[in-house]
Amino acid sequence: MLSARDLRVAYAPGVFALDGVSIDVSPGEVVGVLGPNGAGKSTLARVLLGLQSASAGEVRIDEQPLSGLTIAERARRVAAVLQDQGPRFSFSVKEVVALAREARHGAFTRLGPDDLAAVDRAMRAADVLALADRAFDALSGGERQRVLLARALAQAARYLVLDEPTAFLDLHHRYAFADRIRALADAGGAGVVWILHDLDLALRDCHRVYVLAGGRTVAAGAPAEVLVPETLRASFGVEAVLHRDASGRAHVLVQRPV
Ligand code: ADP
Repeated sequence: MLSARDLRVAYAPGVFALDGVSIDVSPGEVVGVLGPNGAGKSTLARVLLGLQSASAGEVRIDEQPLSGLTIAERARRVAAVLQDQGPRFSFSVKEVVALAREARHGAFTRLGPDDLAAVDRAMRAADVLALADRAFDALSGGERQRVLLARALAQAARYLVLDEPTAFLDLHHRYAFADRIRALADAGGAGVVWILHDLDLALRDCHRVYVLAGGRTVAAGAPAEVLVPETLRASFGVEAVLHRDASGRAHVLVQRPV
């Protein structure tokens, strides 16, 4: 299990971006994190990855404190797709994805046939094979997000932390991405923490969701029980109705800002 207990982060004295947040995800689970801008979601993602330290609380991966793991050990256990990420230099797409395998080994190791096969599989899964020789920094935002997904898949970690990975994706790739994430959890046993704004995807593909606001968890549970009109009004500032289609699946229809 990837779990965090009572995390506190303050960027300024007394102003908490996270104020006692706990979250856990088990292998095989897709856990959504939702909430308005400034709720603390990206801060939570960075703390879960050990990219930022918390002033209180602890992150554990399969019972081990994250702080006690080396960078290569972390890379083998947790992969990420974060915002504004990716190399600043001119790497090809294939090189960017291959970096994930080097991270697993602990940098500058020669990649073997297993690594190259994993890179190929990940690129196929994220639909970026056709971009393999293109320069990463010349891609569109959506193409770049797919490459970063391929990189995370190539890392073959048990846990994934995703910060709005579908923000720039077109509809086809957004739903294909969601299917891939769900399959990783259902068939591959991955545990996924997925920060997202898309209520329909949360209802469709998350096993559980947490709603953050003001650095605190204001609701948590099954998506169709959490993403109800009262919570959407109070935490997201929108009027919405919950609708069930003929198959019984729940959808949220947002009508207007409050
Ligand atoms: P979210 O991802 O939910 O939009 P963030 O975790 O990015 O929220 O931010 C939570 C709060 O912390 C916001 O009020 C934001 O302005 C503040 N914050 C985030 N990063 C920094 C930073 N590097 N320095 C100062 N304040 C920050």
